[in-house]
Amino acid sequence: MTSPMTHHLRPKYESATPDTNVSHYLFIAEEAALPLLKPLFNDIDLTLRKSLVVTDLDISPVTTAAYELIPRSKTISYTDAFILANSKNVAVYIAGTESFLWSVHQRVLKAGIEKSKIHLLEPISDLRRIICTHCFTIMDNISDILVTCSGCQRQLEVQDQFSEMHGAYAASGIRLSNKPQKTIKTITPKKQLF
Ligand SMILES: [Zn+2]
Repeated sequence: MTSPMTHHLRPKYESATPDTNVSHYLFIAEEAALPLLKPLFNDIDLTLRKSLVVTDLDISPVTTAAYELIPRSKTISYTDAFILANSKNVAVYIAGTESFLWSVHQRVLKAGIEKSKIHLLEPISDLRRIICTHCFTIMDNISDILVTCSGCQRQLEVQDQFSEMHGAYAASGIRLSNKPQKTIKTITPKKQLF
């Protein structure tokens, strides 16, 4: 049995408040994160905002004056084009799963938008991306602390250490000889735990 990472440390995320020092607002979101953006949509005039919405459906991209709906497979190329076409005095808001937030964050930074103008909203789920510190395999949608690496097959424990570049938590090997013996029922002296 492994335990979920509900008490694990995460990077700091923002609540949805509009940046007042810009003239336009861009939203890049996974479809499931749209309810999170609603408070912002209510505060910002429709003519000042544009949205790029990533969907899991294998659709043909849809473009309207207010938003573009794109399939997940086109995320990178559409994000690059979207930022390039709208990069003047904008604030960018990103909403979705944590790995999505940081993948898009990297693209937006690369396109030359200042870090202070990029706003990451609270991730919509507890799923994480992890990176094995032994073989650098990246694994997505991880919800447990203990994971078997799909690259080197090591038993890994997810750490608090977070890489913004990869949008991933470091996961490093557990030394099997140090594993607690769960079958023993006697109480272990507390000092051994610290
Ligand atoms: Zn590995």
